[in-house]
Amino acid sequence: MANASRYVPTEREQVFHKTIENQKYEREIINGLTPFLKDKAPADIRNFYSADELAALAALKDTERDVEARMPVKMTRHFFEMAQNSEPLKRLVKASPDETLSLAGSEDPGYQMDFAPVEGMLHKYEMGLLYAVSTCSAHCRFCYREELIAQKEVERQDGTVAKKGLAMIKPVTDYIREHNRIVEANGGIHPDTGREKLREILLSGGDPMVLSNRKIGAWLSALAEAGIESVRLGTKEMSFYPKRFDDSFLTMMDNFHEAYPDVGFRLMIHFNHPDEFLQKGRDGEYQTNPNGSLKWHDDTRKAMEGVIARGWINVENQAPIIKGINDDSDALRVMQRALYRVGVGNHYFFCGRDIVAYRAFNVPIETAWKLLNDSQKGLSGVETHARLSITHYKGKTEVCAVTSEPMRGVPGAENGVLIFKILRSALDAPDRGKVCVVARNPEAIWFDDYEDRVIFDEAGLYDYARVDKKLVELKDEIGEVA
Ligand code: SF4
Repeated sequence: MANASRYVPTEREQVFHKTIENQKYEREIINGLTPFLKDKAPADIRNFYSADELAALAALKDTERDVEARMPVKMTRHFFEMAQNSEPLKRLVKASPDETLSLAGSEDPGYQMDFAPVEGMLHKYEMGLLYAVSTCSAHCRFCYREELIAQKEVERQDGTVAKKGLAMIKPVTDYIREHNRIVEANGGIHPDTGREKLREILLSGGDPMVLSNRKIGAWLSALAEAGIESVRLGTKEMSFYPKRFDDSFLTMMDNFHEAYPDVGFRLMIHFNHPDEFLQKGRDGEYQTNPNGSLKWHDDTRKAMEGVIARGWINVENQAPIIKGINDDSDALRVMQRALYRVGVGNHYFFCGRDIVAYRAFNVPIETAWKLLNDSQKGLSGVETHARLSITHYKGKTEVCAVTSEPMRGVPGAENGVLIFKILRSALDAPDRGKVCVVARNPEAIWFDDYEDRVIFDEAGLYDYARVDKKLVELKDEIGEVA
């Protein structure tokens, strides 16, 4: 008997699927703290944590400050080798007792579940995001998907509590088709949500590059068949295990492009620091090529050249600015310049989100703005496309400017102001471009810290209520038709 919940690929998909080759990868992952605590990590890796560090972490085990319960610990050998010579990279993957000093923060940052019409899918803007997998080759301590990766229970808008589930091809593609059918029948706008056509999907997680080529290929072709115009894939694998971008992956991508030439593809990579891809000498200086440009690690250069050489794959970098990792304008300058030179766009830098324990990772918003602004001094116009974004519950918001001089005649602006601008509103496209002006607070690390100093707020950042039940109703409606 046919299984109604099983996705059946079209003939065109099946022809493409037959061309896909799966490879096995030896990422040499060290999973958790146990290999260090029990002296079972490979001999050359054992000293990654000192005895004192391990004792402090072991003392927190099974308490409410347990760092592994907050965010699982994981690292690849490739990353370990780069981190040997880099304090920022160590901090990126090494658990520290400081992480759980304050457990303040949101269990569902951005109220993501308000935007989940089907399990594992967030629908905001003209784009949908899929939780395709719940792990990565290594884990960043500051991850803002810690609730997904640590499989925590999250409260939904209807009051139920459950772990976030992963996206499945059939319900997701049914939802896309139905949403787009209603939008088309209604002159380009969904009558209930006001949203436009869903034309782009971001495969995310976790890191979809830990999935096999067959699984990635199955998602790509199913999304193409559902009428998606462009697919993005968000990954940090260029940093954790660049060998994953091998011939079998690139051939799969070529075959996908041949089968679906009209579907765009963007690789959204995630480098926080140039130490993740540039070679450093023992003196800590970056190595140079004969022409003075900076030398990449061999595997990363090969991976990047393979992807960029396709021409039709766009590559963009985006990363949060995190305390102790990349709160360094010189490092950010080197990174923006080195990436742009090989054809990678600098998309967003983010202020850290209000995840659980965010105080351990976030730099103040005004400091992040200054760091990015300073890092772009001396770069050319094309190298400085990156903007500083902070994700409000309403949507992506740019930190546009921070002034230092008093604004005469504007009460509250005696020490200067910070200007936010809505880049993308998850619900309401007309909100785009609206601004909010607040009096400065150099200590502020989240929107709340400006609550008592709002000067002007046409963007409605400080007048926000959770999404009403429209989406829940829509979910029911789709549930009935699916
Ligand atoms: S790669 Fe991304 S999803 Fe994975 S742990 Fe790091 S921040 Fe989280």
